[in-house]
Amino acid sequence: MQVLSVTPEIFPLIKTGGLADVTGALPLALAGKGVAMRTLIPGYPQVMDAFKKKKAAHQYPLLQGAKASVQAVELAGLDLFVLDAPHLFDRPGGPYGDASGGDWPDNWRRFAALSQVGADIAAGAISGYMPDIVHAHDWQSAMTLAYMRYGQAVGTPSMITVHNLAFQGQFGAGIFGELGLPAVAMALDGVEYYGGVGFLKAGLQAAWAITTVSPTYAQEIRSAEFGMGLDGLINMRSRDLYGIVNGIDTDIWNPATDKHLAVNYTARTLKDRRSNRMAVEERFGLDRDDSPIACVVSRLTWQKGMDILAAVVDGIVATGARLVILGSGDAGLEGSLLAAAARHRGRVGVVVGYDEGLSHMMQGGCDAIVIPSRFEPCGLTQLYGLRYGCVPIVARTGGLADTVIDANEAAMSAGVATGFQFAPNNGGALLHAIRRLVDAHADAGLWASIQRQGMKADVSWDRSAEKYVELYRLLLSKRAA
Ligand code: ADP
Repeated sequence: MQVLSVTPEIFPLIKTGGLADVTGALPLALAGKGVAMRTLIPGYPQVMDAFKKKKAAHQYPLLQGAKASVQAVELAGLDLFVLDAPHLFDRPGGPYGDASGGDWPDNWRRFAALSQVGADIAAGAISGYMPDIVHAHDWQSAMTLAYMRYGQAVGTPSMITVHNLAFQGQFGAGIFGELGLPAVAMALDGVEYYGGVGFLKAGLQAAWAITTVSPTYAQEIRSAEFGMGLDGLINMRSRDLYGIVNGIDTDIWNPATDKHLAVNYTARTLKDRRSNRMAVEERFGLDRDDSPIACVVSRLTWQKGMDILAAVVDGIVATGARLVILGSGDAGLEGSLLAAAARHRGRVGVVVGYDEGLSHMMQGGCDAIVIPSRFEPCGLTQLYGLRYGCVPIVARTGGLADTVIDANEAAMSAGVATGFQFAPNNGGALLHAIRRLVDAHADAGLWASIQRQGMKADVSWDRSAEKYVELYRLLLSKRAA
């Protein structure tokens, strides 16, 4: 089975978020399951610099303003089609904006071009290659499905994965004339959205199947609370809506081999975590004692519930737990967390910034990881926590609800508990969960059993890749029908 993936990001070449992890991991996970995935990505400087140009696999005399071509290359074990269009993608800064963070004003043009090329490849533009299925990701490649639907590849099954519904690619109606779509597309059941053009909306409308990155988030986005204005459309498409949780790279995230840890360990040598715990105490200037250390590794934002956490730091300290935080984001939140650390020297430590190595050390040395997100399409840090015996304490939402089994009495007696959930998501419920953590931690046998159960959970890509394959097969059967 040949699947064309179209994406604005792919790990390890270009990454701003979890989307890149998924698009980078899926082709490898699918390879052993009879699916050959090739990926179309924009030719950002980081991508173009990573290979030598060859004869183009396809040429465009004119693509959204200038000439462009498609290069077929293999990089980092990935089969890629790179859209070489310097007028659109050869720029300093990030994939969506300049170094100061502002969006490029022609983002609609850049990602319409990517999508147009995706649809052309689906229609056979590259000799010797014809995908059976096209799989797009987020608003930046969503228009691929609209170009397919209003073009020649209308019979090719298509799928879109939504990694975060908050980003929708909404533009003014004025751009429609430059998209190269037929006039009928500017309609309620086409690309039109609130009087403008909605890229994600267009993809949701045209896709044969819609997936998001956890079953609970797939349900939640059908509600006004989580639907970000698209819940009506998503409900209409609910028969074709699926939730598949993300996996993690279990080679990079492996406590038995992780180079960032002071000491490596397994579920059988949990006592060795003590040395990592001491390294955390040292790094964050904490008191040395036996109380549990809860950690946070997160963007410091409203979505992540960091204001809820900041408001109850004093209460957390009062439970006897210690707290360490690694994150960056909202300046107000950074300030209030730093102030809390100053108030509670030895009990609370904060590092503002992004530090991959430290995040590993925290998972390997802290007792619990707290994730009070208001919404969480999938979430990765709870999966790392499970794998590292760093017990997740999570808001009962999205992928957090799907991947952590609450240590209630029934789950404990069945021996399946892997962490703590709380709901509703407010300071009181969060504090209650922290108290449960402190109580459970005081019982060493009980605590170790929760840790071990989490470490046994399958957080790899294997099962999720299987689910994508099932869905691809279903779509192929619909094409045949
Ligand atoms: P999101 O993509 O919404 O930020 P996820 O949980 O899906 O949330 O992924 C966040 C990723 O970024 C995880 O790999 C997490 O470890 C990492 N991360 C977040 N903040 C930091 C930080 N300050 N330092 C190091 N890693 C971080």
